[in-house]
Amino acid sequence: MASPTLTEVNVQKGRGTMDAIIKNFPVGDDGRPTQKEAEDAVRVLLRWAGDDPSREGLIDTPARVAKAYKELFSGYTQDPEDVLGRTFEEVAGYDDIVLVKDIPFYSHCEHHMVPIIGRAHVAYLPNGRVLGLSKMARVVEIFGRRLQTQETMTAQIATAIDETLRPRGVAVMIEAEHMCMAMRGIQKQGSTTLTTTFTGTFKSEPAEQARFMTMIRGRG
Ligand SMILES: [Zn+2]
Repeated sequence: MASPTLTEVNVQKGRGTMDAIIKNFPVGDDGRPTQKEAEDAVRVLLRWAGDDPSREGLIDTPARVAKAYKELFSGYTQDPEDVLGRTFEEVAGYDDIVLVKDIPFYSHCEHHMVPIIGRAHVAYLPNGRVLGLSKMARVVEIFGRRLQTQETMTAQIATAIDETLRPRGVAVMIEAEHMCMAMRGIQKQGSTTLTTTFTGTFKSEPAEQARFMTMIRGRG
């Protein structure tokens, strides 16, 4: 049996086009809905929340939300490999841990689309070549600006660095607060979730993991 067409759904629901659009997203050239469709979807969510999208204060909200989404989820259009590059600075002599700690990030959980606010600590053991330090923060940002679980994001950052730089090991720790836990459900405010991923030497040698942890905790 064919799925309902746009027209049929409109007739059945008698509520404009939104019910139909949600069931049957037409797609643009890059496979995405149009700006207009995104704005219509926001109007539906405003109604779902119990408000009136046509009241003055909300008139421009759908356009603002659509624009904000472009920024908040810009990580989908960015490839970490492009940021990390394929050429690296060669270093002679330095082969110890390179750690960038306390990289702040904002993400959104893929379960509720509610913010995850946290910090990432990213380290690697060079294998003769090093990354620009700002690139490590950029990789965190790219994966943060997607819908995420903290576990996935931690592993993605480690994998991206591991596969491009080919260091002796990568260590990533993320500490984050999940607004979906603080604002809804069990409402546990102030609880922090910790996740770690270790590769290479960081994985095989507990002493290297311990050093990474000590360096993160050594504040000030
Ligand atoms: Zn959530």
